[in-house]
Amino acid sequence: MSARRLLLLGPPGAGKGTQAKRLVDRYEIPQISTGDMLRAAKAAGTEIGKRAKSYMDAGKLVPDEIVIGVAEERLGQPDAAAGFILDGFPRTVAQAEALDDLLDRLGVKLERCVAIAVPEDELVTRLLKRAELEGRADDNEASIRVRMNEYHEKTAPLVDHYSGRGVLVEVAGVGSIDEIAKRIEDALN
Ligand code: AMP
Repeated sequence: MSARRLLLLGPPGAGKGTQAKRLVDRYEIPQISTGDMLRAAKAAGTEIGKRAKSYMDAGKLVPDEIVIGVAEERLGQPDAAAGFILDGFPRTVAQAEALDDLLDRLGVKLERCVAIAVPEDELVTRLLKRAELEGRADDNEASIRVRMNEYHEKTAPLVDHYSGRGVLVEVAGVGSIDEIAKRIEDALN
């Protein structure tokens, strides 16, 4: 039986969303993407969306208290009880600690943190390509630079956080989508 409570960690453009969707199909557990939820909130013009907008458009991380609330609410929903794939949350040590607390309260444990590693020049190429294909507001050069910076400064330390908890596996995020999916699947078994 493979792990069912998962976190995909990696820089912007590493393929977290793509790989999360593969895992959803394979294991029938939900993808929990704070980026998708925040974009939906922004598009719907909710209070959270309005508060998050300026950070997102600039490529900055949205403040912890906003994101933690969004993620906690989602993780508490019934479809997450049997498992989940966290994609893009947590992104700071404070968020990781809030997640640890929440999972404790729910009486469950994170089973794997899959860190997807991709060389930086490849990431930028991918994000610029995605900008052309999907037209995401934050896939422009200035924002990409800020997002990489935010990743290195605030998110990369989570590798140590999860390594210390004995759940970290590192996977090379280069090659075809199928090849990467296979490496992840092996890492979950
Ligand atoms: P993503 O689709 O995961 O790349 O997220 C897009 C944007 O949403 C990020 O650049 C942030 O502005 C915001 N965001 C998503 N998840 C988080 C998070 N866990 N913490 C802070 N900001 C986030």
